Amino acid sequence: MTTAYVRAKREWTVQHRHPWIFSGAVERLEGDALPGDVVRVADAHGATLGFGTWSPHSQIRVRMLSFDPKRPANAAFVKDAVKASVARRGAAAFAPHAGVRFVHGESDGLPGVVADCYDGWCVVQLASAGAETFKNEIAAALMEAGAKGVYNRSDVDSRLHEGLAVEGETVVGVLAGAEPPELIEIHEGAIKYFVDIRHGHKTGFYLDQREARACVGALAAGRDCLNCFSYTGGFGLACAAGGAARVENVDLSAPALALAEKNFALMFPDGAPCETAFTCADVFKQLRLFRDQGRQFDLIVLDPPKFADTKGQLMRATRGYKDINLLAMKLLKPGGVLATFSCSGAMAQDLFDKVCAEAAFDAKRDFQVIARTRQAADHPVALAFPEGFYLKGLILRALPGGGVTPSTPPCPHALPGGGVAPPTPPCS
Ligand code: SAH
Repeated sequence: MTTAYVRAKREWTVQHRHPWIFSGAVERLEGDALPGDVVRVADAHGATLGFGTWSPHSQIRVRMLSFDPKRPANAAFVKDAVKASVARRGAAAFAPHAGVRFVHGESDGLPGVVADCYDGWCVVQLASAGAETFKNEIAAALMEAGAKGVYNRSDVDSRLHEGLAVEGETVVGVLAGAEPPELIEIHEGAIKYFVDIRHGHKTGFYLDQREARACVGALAAGRDCLNCFSYTGGFGLACAAGGAARVENVDLSAPALALAEKNFALMFPDGAPCETAFTCADVFKQLRLFRDQGRQFDLIVLDPPKFADTKGQLMRATRGYKDINLLAMKLLKPGGVLATFSCSGAMAQDLFDKVCAEAAFDAKRDFQVIARTRQAADHPVALAFPEGFYLKGLILRALPGGGVTPSTPPCPHALPGGGVAPPTPPCS
């Protein structure tokens, strides 16, 4: 088998079970390997460290699959890994209308592989050459685990770094089983959503915010809520179901807002229990418009897309985060709640905290952290792969002038240490 030799003193990351070997750590390749081929990974003395897939076009040259020198990574290995990952989600993963991430890439031992399951329909995103190699085995394993069908949504730009196609029928379409319906209904606690797996973002839905939506919904009773970057209404529906007085959803995407309206109709067939608005606008501009109008809110959600893909984009991203947080803080009534998020993996938790603190300083407002949220438990982070942590949330309470604590109820899921307990743990 073709062997990738890791430079002396660079093997410790593999020994510590980190799945990425960067190009600079690879001494040489002995034999030939096409993109996505499995190679033996050896230390400078030739001892086997494990097996991974070869990505000649990427800075991440090898992605480790097997850290066991006696267990080569092959079709059976990948199928077992997929099934083990699904099994970790527990029996509830295939419950009617469940929406659960079945495979979370590196942290589930399958680099570049994402699989989300909506009411039994699996949607996969294959972002590395190795993931592409094992596409059929991944689909077969999901079917054997109980999926109704497997749909491919690998139209992601990150594949360009791997020299892989990003459009066409090899990238999008049915991989196994039956053709999924146009809209799939999922239930998240008491909330119902339609998911459009063909046209939606990512695999169709942001399952990672499940626990944060529950936390925010529990704070919404009687409040005038502004849901910025609403996508298909996620936080807005949680607020409406939590007894909000008014919910305004703002997003740049007209199709996302159209589905948000459908979701409100699905959830509240006799009409929403509160006033609703669906505003198609750029949040950066809309927040300024509200400022100029002197508009105030009781609860604001800021859940923007990823502003930084890499550490190099952090400066620009930091400015973006500070801008929207500063604007939103100024729009909050005393005692109001700001639920603010960053899904940029490159932005560490402490930097995000600092950006929000700077925004509060410039807004001349005092805030308390009443809860912290993170990506839902079905998006685990392997301890050996801290890069897997990307979604951070701060639930902040605005103090009135003079620093008197208003009567905002505590987040019911808040833990003493500052984290948020999942309302219903999806993992076994
Ligand atoms: N909170 C959502 C997910 C938000 S994803 C949920 O719980 O499901 C980010 C959203 O931001 C996307 O819907 C995207 O269309 C929108 N978006 C991106 N840039 C924007 C901008 N400048 N103004 C308004 N919306 C924007």
